[in-house]
Amino acid sequence: MLKDLDIFSKNIKGKIKFNYSLKNHTWLNIGGNAKIFFIPETLSELREFLLYLKKENNNLFIIGAGSNLLISDNVQNRIFIKLGKNFNKISLTKNNVVIAGCSILDKNVSNFACEHNLSGLEFLSCIPGTIGGGIRMNSGCFGTEFKDVLLSVQVMDFSGRVYTINSKNINFEYRQTNLPKNLIFLSASFKTNKKDKKEIEEKIYKFKEKKERSQPLRVKTGGSTFKNPKNPLGKKVWQIIKENVDNQTSFGDAKISEKHSNFFININNASFKDMHDLINFVKKKVKEKTGISLQLELEIVN
Ligand SMILES: Cc1cc2nc3c(=O)[nH]c(=O)nc-3n(C[C@H](O)[C@H](O)[C@H](O)COP(=O)(O)OP(=O)(O)OC[C@H]3O[C@@H](n4cnc5c(N)ncnc54)[C@H](O)[C@@H]3O)c2cc1C
Repeated sequence: MLKDLDIFSKNIKGKIKFNYSLKNHTWLNIGGNAKIFFIPETLSELREFLLYLKKENNNLFIIGAGSNLLISDNVQNRIFIKLGKNFNKISLTKNNVVIAGCSILDKNVSNFACEHNLSGLEFLSCIPGTIGGGIRMNSGCFGTEFKDVLLSVQVMDFSGRVYTINSKNINFEYRQTNLPKNLIFLSASFKTNKKDKKEIEEKIYKFKEKKERSQPLRVKTGGSTFKNPKNPLGKKVWQIIKENVDNQTSFGDAKISEKHSNFFININNASFKDMHDLINFVKKKVKEKTGISLQLELEIVN
């Protein structure tokens, strides 16, 4: 298969890398070498690649901006697909529907909407992922989630079939959807409404300011490590961790952020094991002290 792919790689616009380090493709800056890393630039080469793989589909993983991933050292048998620049186009229909390719960064979609006096997508300015990752995670902040604005998503399944899913047929929950894992999101449409640009800009400014105040930015992190659990006192997970785990806890270069206890940071060169040990330690401590079982928001890729 690798020989075939080598020939295939010479005839495409995209790129194929073998035994490729994923470290620089995750916000945590952690991750081993993938067997294959494919950056498709056209639908036809993406389909062709999937048809080559066939039996290896189980080992496929779609990666966006890597802002919600902790990738292990043992991914040498796995194949990663990251949509290329041709999948980051953005356009607008007459009735204010924004259509965005799934490799585009959320903040660029927010900016585009703002430039066109369209409101509803301001929250995207604060999520450092791509549209694809946001759909998968039903990401959100400051009271809005993808489920509130998504109209439809165009997908390719692992057999190469392309179709559109109406968001009414997707079951969205807190930081998850029921969309099958064998789908690659290609593009998505979003509803917006006309508003004064100044109001939109102010909303974005306030969101960013709030984020800056409460969360560590410009550091190696995967964002929220755990989901907010249901608990009788309605406490947020950062409060629960702050109250029950020593904030100075660290494993190697993996430590808890002083600014936000649910953000774990790679202060320099943390290994997968360091971060994984820290996650397990916090989970265990919280369970022992409060009886609450924390669920990961961060996705571990093995
Ligand atoms: C500093 C920081 C702040 C954050 N703040 C927030 C926040 O406020 N709110 C919030 O909800 N999250 C937040 N996050 C988490 C993260 O940014 C979101 O979950 C984001 O939507 C993930 O997008 P991504 O492109 O990075 O996806 P990745 O992390 O690369 O992948 C996440 C999931 O999406 C899937 N995926 C990605 N692209 C595609 C595609 N094209 N087709 C199919 N599946 C795909 C992956 O397979 C994986 O399952 C934050 C993270 C960081 C580092």
